[in-house]
Amino acid sequence: MKANCWYGTHDVRVETVPDPGILNPRDAIVKITSTAICGSDLHLYDGYIPTMQAGDILGHEFMGEVVEVGPGVKNLKVGERVVVPFPISCGQCFFCEQGMSSLCENSNPNALLAEKLWGHSPCGIFGYSHLLGGYAGGQAQYARVPFADVGPIPVPDGLDDEKVLFLSDIFPTGYMAAEACDIKPGDVIAVWGCGPVGQFAIKSAFLLGAERVIAIDRFPERLALARQHSGAETLNYEKADVRDALLEITGGRGPDACIEAVGMESHSPGVLGAYDKLKQLLMLQTGRPAPLRQAILACRNGGIVSVPGVYGGFLDKMPFGSIMNRSITIKTGQTHVHRYLKPLLQYILDGKIDPSFVITHRMRLQDAPEGFRKFRNKEDGCVKVVLKPN
Ligand code: NAD
Ligand code: ZN
Ligand code: ZN
Repeated sequence: MKANCWYGTHDVRVETVPDPGILNPRDAIVKITSTAICGSDLHLYDGYIPTMQAGDILGHEFMGEVVEVGPGVKNLKVGERVVVPFPISCGQCFFCEQGMSSLCENSNPNALLAEKLWGHSPCGIFGYSHLLGGYAGGQAQYARVPFADVGPIPVPDGLDDEKVLFLSDIFPTGYMAAEACDIKPGDVIAVWGCGPVGQFAIKSAFLLGAERVIAIDRFPERLALARQHSGAETLNYEKADVRDALLEITGGRGPDACIEAVGMESHSPGVLGAYDKLKQLLMLQTGRPAPLRQAILACRNGGIVSVPGVYGGFLDKMPFGSIMNRSITIKTGQTHVHRYLKPLLQYILDGKIDPSFVITHRMRLQDAPEGFRKFRNKEDGCVKVVLKPN
């Protein structure tokens, strides 16, 4: 089959690789009809995630048709259309039983590596380094899906791929980030980053009852999408002082909750930004957390800072005194996608959201290298790339 493989920083190649096969009774093989490039893939593409190996198959947002099931998979039939959640989860361990599927204790065969870095290991993730299991990803014609009896969700035939594909990751991710804000009527929510995750966080904050959402970025087309599709107010952080503007909007108090949907590769202008870049270059810190610091300092006393943005290791100059003295709650995590699949599919079926609004580029799998370049560099108004492998 063809698959998009990682070879190093800014080097991905579509190559012919062996077809996947059933290895365990609870595996299924999915013939992929649609897959996408995620902001998290950019951290691999830009070389910030350790333990990648040349030839690793990328991709963790995918859906398709079940073509083979192991003897332990009783709930899926060959021919069924399914969306596959990006965390690989057993459904039976301490965390899976409590709905925290991204913390599954049984799906990361390289847990020892992760424990060295993080103290404990999270779940395994498709196409996301050997630290997180070394699983082949879904930017390919076929994928092996472990624990297929608890992960993939069947989708009704009447719904296009584009409407349901993002149940695999970014729709639940934006939703979980907004849900973490514990939104009450009248709340003002600020969202840093208007990429795909930010867009779903903004939309979800409104779905969960926010009165106003302030969206922050610097790319006009992304800000326009947040305004036009979801009704957010927008701030271009290159043109306005974000903290001052947020204080003015909230009567001097600050937003009730702040969502940081940017992650470790933020654009970091100014002196502190230069410091961050240098420290990241020298591997003295693993992310550039400018928007995270800004979100913490802008948030009102007693508020919540929700962080779907991905971070890898250690961050410098975190204003922990501000968090402690002002009773700020930080909520974060890889998304527990499994628990959102059914309720968010229902949102789509009820017509409350059409997740395809973020798609700007549709390409063939062969064009993945071009898709990565355009998405990374925000060329050509690119917000989200969907690839068609078959
Ligand atoms: P993206 O790169 O398209 O979007 C990031 C956006 O942040 C861009 O529009 C960029 O202009 C903006 N930005 C950069 N610096 C900024 C700053 N200083 N202030 C405000 N905005 C700034 O990526 P995405 O697909 O939207 O993903 C966003 C983050 O979410 C990534 O870190 C990704 O890894 C993470 N993510 C997490 C999960 C999870 O499970 N928690 C799932 C998916 C993605
Ligand atoms: Zn992702
Ligand atoms: Zn589990």
